[in-house]
Amino acid sequence: MSMEILKAGAKSLGLTLGAHHLARFEAYYRELEAWNKRFNLTAITGCEEIQRRHFIDSLTCLLAFPSGVASASIPDEVPLQWQGTDLRCADVGTGAGFPGLPLKIVFPEIRLTLIEATAKKVVFLEHMVRTLGLSQVEIIHARAEDIGRLPEHREQYDVVLARAVAHLAVLAEYCLPLCRVGGRFIAPKGEDALEEIAAAEEAIALLGGALVAAKPITLPDVPGQRYLVVIDKVAKTPDRYPRRAGIPLKRPLP
Ligand code: SAM
Repeated sequence: MSMEILKAGAKSLGLTLGAHHLARFEAYYRELEAWNKRFNLTAITGCEEIQRRHFIDSLTCLLAFPSGVASASIPDEVPLQWQGTDLRCADVGTGAGFPGLPLKIVFPEIRLTLIEATAKKVVFLEHMVRTLGLSQVEIIHARAEDIGRLPEHREQYDVVLARAVAHLAVLAEYCLPLCRVGGRFIAPKGEDALEEIAAAEEAIALLGGALVAAKPITLPDVPGQRYLVVIDKVAKTPDRYPRRAGIPLKRPLP
């Protein structure tokens, strides 16, 4: 099985993947394909598409990782000088592990919390983390709204990630309460990113966020513009957010 597409895609992000990384991604691919036949975990299938749309797309989040200095803009280069020790990351609505697990494979030193509402996906995540031998990964079977109210998770994360979970206004209510003041919320988005940002502006401010950038991303051999929406946490989230589970989606903040 060739992971050459992933290797080249990672290279274009400034990451050199070694044999041990590629072996883990290959194992991830195999398990994902095998489990997908029974549990319908992801609509994306096939070795090449999984490399492009799951593995490389997840790794692009690194382009928005904080470099350790307060930055008004995001550098074009991956800030690999970042020392990963103790960086706490949460991936909200991670599904089969995206974008959190590919990032963890490349940077094993991050402390990763995967939050997922669907039980069968949680079972897969537990299996995958065991199979890949990853440590410092917490898997939580819950809705983000409930986790965002718990003191051990509220405003505890340096980086909060969420891909393909909800519109930005809804997503901001799931994610910003988890983010510490000074931390960053990163949401990979598709072509509608700019409209979503316009619609979520007030919600983001209300929840203590400030838009840093919508960084355009192009994936190799994948049509369509993608963006990393990058929001810094600049103020505490008011206590009344997130609202009860289900309410953010039903009645998004204006
Ligand atoms: N992030 C993954 C990806 O990019 O492949 C999965 C995307 S999938 C379309 C959306 C996932 O978010 C589903 O697995 C769903 O169960 C989960 N989800 C939706 N709302 C959630 C919430 N409020 N809290 C936790 N998980 C949620």
